[in-house]
Amino acid sequence: IEERFDAIVIGAGPSGNAAAYTLATEGLKVLQIERGEYSGSKNVQGAILYADALEKIIPDFRDDAPLERHVIEQRIWTMDDSSHTGMHYRSDDFNEDRPNRYTILRAQFDKWFSSRVRQAGAILLCETTVTELVKDLQGKVIGVRTDRGGGPILADVVILAEGVNGLVGHRSGLRPEIAPDSVALAVKEMHFLPRETIEARFNITGNEGVVIEAMGTITKGMTGTGFLYTNEESISIGIGCIVSDFAESEVTPFELLEAFKNHPSIKPLLVGSECKEYAAHLIPEGGYKAIPQLVGDGWIVVGDAGQFVNAVHREGSNLAMTTGRIAAETVVSLHRRRIAMTRENLSAYEQGLAKTFVMKDLRKYRGIPALLHANKANFFGLYPQLISQAMQTWFRVDGVDKVSKEKAIFRSFRTGRTLGGLIGDAFRLVRAWR
Ligand code: FAD
Repeated sequence: IEERFDAIVIGAGPSGNAAAYTLATEGLKVLQIERGEYSGSKNVQGAILYADALEKIIPDFRDDAPLERHVIEQRIWTMDDSSHTGMHYRSDDFNEDRPNRYTILRAQFDKWFSSRVRQAGAILLCETTVTELVKDLQGKVIGVRTDRGGGPILADVVILAEGVNGLVGHRSGLRPEIAPDSVALAVKEMHFLPRETIEARFNITGNEGVVIEAMGTITKGMTGTGFLYTNEESISIGIGCIVSDFAESEVTPFELLEAFKNHPSIKPLLVGSECKEYAAHLIPEGGYKAIPQLVGDGWIVVGDAGQFVNAVHREGSNLAMTTGRIAAETVVSLHRRRIAMTRENLSAYEQGLAKTFVMKDLRKYRGIPALLHANKANFFGLYPQLISQAMQTWFRVDGVDKVSKEKAIFRSFRTGRTLGGLIGDAFRLVRAWR
């Protein structure tokens, strides 16, 4: 390719597709480069799609996007080895004309998104890996080189949408290597079941869906969470923990997932299913404090490559699409006014992001990753166990009067953790949450 482009987008995940689509619909000449065989072939997600972020890019996406189930019930579980304590929210309001959240299969969804990007006019080059950024003598990024060889491909700006383990930005010295304590390794399986079985097991009909987010002793003392999502004819189940915790632990991700699947609260939901897919992927979980430099002369970072994941709310793809869209809007605005893509001018992207939920939410939770990690034994081990014991004491009818039960519950918390420790943890959690 010897042409010059207005923009090159590295990666065809949600952030890259959002950026490429927005640029192409505004008439810019866009080249998108994806190392996978097709968009989505390398990608892993739970996966819940948050409609709002996509609606802002493709308002009519519901007409033809491959959506599985719309979520009407959210379950949040804290678990010990034999039980779970749950907070469930289910509402018929979620059976709305334009549902708010859907389960999706990323391989299909990314393919669909990519077809929309190409319809909008972007050129997509698959099975091609960007190997390095090309800079001019002043250090401004002016294009990329790929593993196809040949000369550099030039553009006014390069958007790095290469995901959490993308190496281009790191190799080019634009951002530091991702720290093992700010990234999680998640493993996921797809279990197939007839749709009637899924509907009966989860008390749903039609395209209604249920999602479960879980934490507790399932992560064997490590910082992490598990999930189970209903699709049309399959269940996605997975678990992930911080990489540095895995490095210190004897437990492998595979063993963790096997134990989660065999937990007495999970096993009946999967019984009779056929597992057809196994995947592993990293999730950036360092939050606000781990966000690298986002713009420079001739380049912008979006999506997971910029650490844009809200681990507390399990949101990533919506932050990816929003950052991709806003980066593209920034580029379009500069392009139209014929203003150079310098670091200073591209910083309008950071200002745009600061006004959105992306930065506001990540900023709000900026203390949470470090707090959970530093107190993982309590938050992912002790407290889930104490909550389960308290529930058991309270609900078991055994001739013990309720006042004695209350005292036993308080005692168990006091024995597990000193009063100062309990108050300190509560204080730190509230402060980090605010
Ligand atoms: P990616 O989706 O990783 O895409 C990056 C793309 O760049 C890939 O296609 C890759 O092949 C390509 N690429 C990389 N390097 C190069 C190169 N040098 N040259 C060419 N191409 C390159 N988010 C949610 O919103 N909801 C969920 O339920 C959810 N669940 C998750 C469950 C799991 C197990 C995991 C791992 C993540 C989950 N996430 C979830 C997070 C979500 O998947 C990510 O936030 C999202 O995929 C980020 O999109 P992205 O486009 O930035 O990166």
